Amino acid sequence: MHTLLENMSFPEVEDYLKEKDTVLVPVGSVEQHSEYGVIGTDFIAAEGVAREVGQKMGLMVAPTIHYGVSPHHMDFAGSVTLSPITFLHLIVDICCSFIRHGFSRIFFINGHGGNKNALASAFQQVKMDGGRGQLELFSWYDGLKETEIVRELFQDQDGSHATPSEISLTMLLRPAVFAERAFEDKQNETPDYYWPLTAEEMRGTFPDGRMGASSWLASVEKGRLVMTVAVETLIEKIEKRQSIPVL
Ligand SMILES: [Zn+2]
Repeated sequence: MHTLLENMSFPEVEDYLKEKDTVLVPVGSVEQHSEYGVIGTDFIAAEGVAREVGQKMGLMVAPTIHYGVSPHHMDFAGSVTLSPITFLHLIVDICCSFIRHGFSRIFFINGHGGNKNALASAFQQVKMDGGRGQLELFSWYDGLKETEIVRELFQDQDGSHATPSEISLTMLLRPAVFAERAFEDKQNETPDYYWPLTAEEMRGTFPDGRMGASSWLASVEKGRLVMTVAVETLIEKIEKRQSIPVL
């Protein structure tokens, strides 16, 4: 069975809706991930995990929302941001489209912390407008971080941006991109900081784009483990939330 919406015809979607009510929507960002990770890290990771979960659970996966809310990364070349308001409108419109077709569980598989507030506000707006159904946000790494695997692989050096766990996933998913890259070890020191930051404050506080992450610890082998545990824990969370009846 196809699990990617982009590869289905409309009668196939209608058939899917006779059996199932859930669509997974990967959402990421287009932003710097230090010199170690690539600009697409967040959407590559979210999409990879969502597709694996979709395949295993027989759930439809929608086309990925690549761009997200990344204003604090805008002093690093190649980063592209939506304003929180633009992103909110995008999410509301996507939810309303799926609701119109009869999907009653729209589950966003997120790869970027900066998207969370706007996603939550978008859900509130859909609900205020009377949109029926269950809107949920799962970040692919939420379940992973509740396990020991991150500590085992990265010894408390995973940090919060350009993390070796997300970079490992992208190495697994886009091996050709990393074929020519060599990772050099650096020092990992995290200063105290307030949040949110402007682009200038971000670059001033984290000049090389990493936030507490020993990004050089990433590898394809670790990516394989990260993928396995992220997918397992996410399936568990999704199943739990799917058991709630939709009114
Ligand atoms: Zn990221």
